[in-house]
Amino acid sequence: MRFKDIAGQRDVINRLTEIIDSGRVSHAQLVLGPTADGSLQMALAYLQYLCCEHRVHHTEGDLRADSCGECPSCKKVSQLMHPDLHLFFPTATTARITSTPRCEDFAADFREFVLEKHATGTLDDWYAWLDIDNKQGLLREADASAIVQSLSMKAYEGGWKMVVIWMPEKMNAAAANELLKTLEEPSEKSVILLVGESDERLLPTIRSRVQTVRLRVEDGGRRRENGSEQYAPLLVEWLRMLFKLKMKELGAQVDKMATMGREQQKQFLAYALDVMRDCFLKSAAGMECSLNSGDQKFDAMFPSMVTVNNIELIDEAFNDALFAIERNAYGKIALMELSFRISKALKKR
Ligand SMILES: [Zn+2]
Repeated sequence: MRFKDIAGQRDVINRLTEIIDSGRVSHAQLVLGPTADGSLQMALAYLQYLCCEHRVHHTEGDLRADSCGECPSCKKVSQLMHPDLHLFFPTATTARITSTPRCEDFAADFREFVLEKHATGTLDDWYAWLDIDNKQGLLREADASAIVQSLSMKAYEGGWKMVVIWMPEKMNAAAANELLKTLEEPSEKSVILLVGESDERLLPTIRSRVQTVRLRVEDGGRRRENGSEQYAPLLVEWLRMLFKLKMKELGAQVDKMATMGREQQKQFLAYALDVMRDCFLKSAAGMECSLNSGDQKFDAMFPSMVTVNNIELIDEAFNDALFAIERNAYGKIALMELSFRISKALKKR
């Protein structure tokens, strides 16, 4: 993961690379922000930069520096195969591990999960990945002991010893106690990154021992800006089709959407849902909201179609489609079903 692969957060990133370049690396840090908005990406890009053998300093663009992405260190960190990078995360019993689950039992699963989701998979995604039903994951004392152990050993590659603790909110008290000393008295050249979403749910004993890097929470508007160039025309085309509901044309439109890759389909749906929510919030507040479709009539009319009467149906339909596509469902069928549901929902305004 390179910093350039993270959406937004430029000021946070530039501050971090400056600190690393100046050699003032803080030993224990809490990277705080939704995983979906890039907190785990940030941690991984940070460690890649820290280890990179040929850091690149830019004179143009909005990033002051980034890792090279090419050196052996970068490759190992980006594949999560660096021998001095240790990942910890909540686990629970599964069909395979039926008692005393530990992170090391799930190391390969977690690596695959992070790589597949580009480090933006949420805790719920992870639980679904593990198929743990309604159980809640935990970071346990045994995991904390493994963290202490991995930091007490000599670095294989002679460089940094790195620990990422994803979702430290899920650490139980015994695990937290086990970690306190390590957080306070770091071993040499080691860095622990706690990657969490809520510092309120973090045990105070932990919170007081880490330096916090807070991600800027991207609002809907910002996300839309990122996606709008690519997806706005497609979204407008599709929404128009939903009004007309002419089967042949809608079929062709869905075919077109289904030719995008799975990741792109997901991005498009996330973008579209974001636009819908924005339409609802703004029109409910009596604010103006535009799709910037280039068609003034459509722009003026559409936002008022999303109301308190249908926003939940719309939300549900999008989330079902996202879930289906995530689970490798046939994209065309998921998108067609979504089209019908949205079309129906818009009539209920
Ligand atoms: Zn590199």
